[in-house]
Amino acid sequence: MEAQRNEVPRGPSRLFDVAPEEELLYSITAEGKRKFIHPVVHKGRYWKIRRSMAYALMVLFFGLPWIPVGGHPAVFLDLASRQFHILGGTFHPTDNLLLAALGVSIIITVFFVGSTFGRMWCGYACPQTVYLEFMFRPIEIWLEGTPVAQRKLNAAPWSAKKAAVKSAKWALWTVLALLMAVTFVSYFVSWSALLGDVLPNPAANKAVVGVALFLTGMILFDFGWFRDQMCTVACPYGRLQNVMADPDTILVAYDQPRGDPKTKLKDRIEGGTYGDCIDCKSCVSACPTGTDIRRGLQPECIGSAQCIDACDVVMERTGKPPGLIRYTSEREQAGGTRRIWRPRVIIYLVLLTVAWGTLAALVIGRAEALVEIIRGGREPYRILPTGEVANQQRLRITNQLPQTQSFTIQVLSPAGAKLVLSESPVVVSPAELSAINAVTTVPPSVFSDGQAEVRYLVTSDRGFKKEVKFLLLGPYTDSEGP
Ligand code: SF4
Ligand code: SF4
Repeated sequence: MEAQRNEVPRGPSRLFDVAPEEELLYSITAEGKRKFIHPVVHKGRYWKIRRSMAYALMVLFFGLPWIPVGGHPAVFLDLASRQFHILGGTFHPTDNLLLAALGVSIIITVFFVGSTFGRMWCGYACPQTVYLEFMFRPIEIWLEGTPVAQRKLNAAPWSAKKAAVKSAKWALWTVLALLMAVTFVSYFVSWSALLGDVLPNPAANKAVVGVALFLTGMILFDFGWFRDQMCTVACPYGRLQNVMADPDTILVAYDQPRGDPKTKLKDRIEGGTYGDCIDCKSCVSACPTGTDIRRGLQPECIGSAQCIDACDVVMERTGKPPGLIRYTSEREQAGGTRRIWRPRVIIYLVLLTVAWGTLAALVIGRAEALVEIIRGGREPYRILPTGEVANQQRLRITNQLPQTQSFTIQVLSPAGAKLVLSESPVVVSPAELSAINAVTTVPPSVFSDGQAEVRYLVTSDRGFKKEVKFLLLGPYTDSEGP
């Protein structure tokens, strides 16, 4: 990629003028200043697909915290009670196998998507693109006009009209940023808590309010000012893309043999040999990162396909077939055929199936409840006047179903063991945890090396059934004493 950039002819007379423009980011001037990009939006076929995806993703983001599933929002990462409610299932920090499977699945998916579809994620589904191109930028265009009008307004001296337009734009953006920030917070706090507790009494919920305001500021900074810099300077995915891509990865590219030599229509003379590119720079002015795709593959390209839509319009007007800029691959560009099924993709697909399959199996095979017995009381055991040995315990039951469950516990072995509970049956609400006290009493003869295994059977009215083992502590007999 860099090699292609460096192919720009240099010479002592051109170096000063050309080098900064050719070697720097498109959004940086030769003096090192920020060059704000105001892309022209081309509402072509890829833009329409991106818009549909963007709206669907927005509906998902704003809607999920409002949709109740199993008594909780569809996605509710309840940090306060350390429970994660996802589509009716309740997960806990102790579900570490699930978390590990999820993490591995996501990493493999990123590599699969990156190596197969290139930066399509960036152009179609990344929140940066979705909200900038389909929420914040449309408002700017609505209030300030075309990119040319925007540049004119920015360059104009301050006036009442300019102040009004800019204020209206930032006010609208602020409202949207606040809505996005509060929605994001609702994934962790829930809308019912936000509206019922935080809104009536913000002073008592400074942390939540602070996070929401901080996020609002960050969103405004990003979509109002930082914009393309997030993709070209800050985001690590673009850099990672260079590692993940191979010659068959899908990318947006200019068909150089067909397009070159680029010549403006006005410079063309009868009988001359010209490429299909009329050097109108429509593709460049459409690019949200300012990239000139005609100079080859570049890390600044986020795969928005706006240059394809822009160039297709030009090709139609000039009577040429579309696709001078199109989705292709490095191999196809070099005259070969793009291979879809290659070893890397097959390996990723196998790993993906294993990873997501494991996760699905873990979720499906998840028990209706978690039962945990821990030691209670200050002393390891107590010898009762009857000679029996008593162990105090804490019994913790987590109901993982969206319905209330009523649990009963009985002791199975050893012979002569008795169990006394502070509460029986133990009724546990959906996705809640109940802890009760328990005392298990056994004859001293069951102890060996100061320990005795006891087995319990925990059942519920919802069909849960689990045998739980626990090691009781007790005295060493004379013959076994330490
Ligand atoms: S839009 Fe097409 S014709 Fe115009 S400069 Fe770009 S590649 Fe050439
Ligand atoms: S070069 Fe084309 S595909 Fe790449 S970011 Fe610019 S407009 Fe989008």
